Amino acid sequence: MDYRPIHNTMGELCQELVQKQWINTQKVYDVMMSVDRADFAPKNPYENNPQYIGYNVVISAPLLHAYCLEALRDHLTEGSTALDIGFGSGYLTVAMSKMMNDKGCVVGIEHINDLYDWGKKNISKSHKNLLDNKSIELILGDGRSGYKKKAPFKCIHVGAASMEVPDAFIEQLALGGRLVMPLGPQGDQYIYIIDKHPNGNITKMQGLSVRYVPLTTPEKQIKNIG
Ligand code: SAH
Repeated sequence: MDYRPIHNTMGELCQELVQKQWINTQKVYDVMMSVDRADFAPKNPYENNPQYIGYNVVISAPLLHAYCLEALRDHLTEGSTALDIGFGSGYLTVAMSKMMNDKGCVVGIEHINDLYDWGKKNISKSHKNLLDNKSIELILGDGRSGYKKKAPFKCIHVGAASMEVPDAFIEQLALGGRLVMPLGPQGDQYIYIIDKHPNGNITKMQGLSVRYVPLTTPEKQIKNIG
């Protein structure tokens, strides 16, 4: 029989993430411990699973949040500007800000009105100060063209998959910056780690095999009762 552990605290969840080597550094451990998933997941917040949040959308599994934070950890430095496209629940937006010790700016973009409001409400529960002092700025809109106004970004994280990297993301990445995003068709998707080197060269590294919702237009999203 399949045994699935039931966790009751962030500590138990993070312990599993350490044991399975999704969390590999003290920094990511401390950050995930400081952002309680109960503020962001409608049910079973401490399970290492995605949870449905409506509109055919899920809050990503904690292992994916850990994976993305580890991939971006050397780029999420104090004073940096970062972009989180498709912020959904808002969990990763807060965690990205915490990686910068709340001394940077994370712009979060979400294109579904209700999810924008819900994500903002989630963030406000325990981290309203980050909205007040503009460590986090939330934008309602289509993230496929990035956010020129605040570019260039040291980090760009994309929470939804496309077939190719939109040109805007590469253009808006700072020299020395890193973009982490899922690419590929449903059923054959991988997270890619894309670096813009100080000389402007772009390199692309294939990472984890994943299943993400598509980076799409809001009309294509169907509202489901979840
Ligand atoms: N990191 C988030 C992921 C949510 S799922 C979390 O763990 O909660 C992906 C999100 O991307 C959804 O909320 C979806 O509405 C959003 N999205 C999809 N296409 C988008 C687009 N073109 N612009 C902005 N957001 C988009």
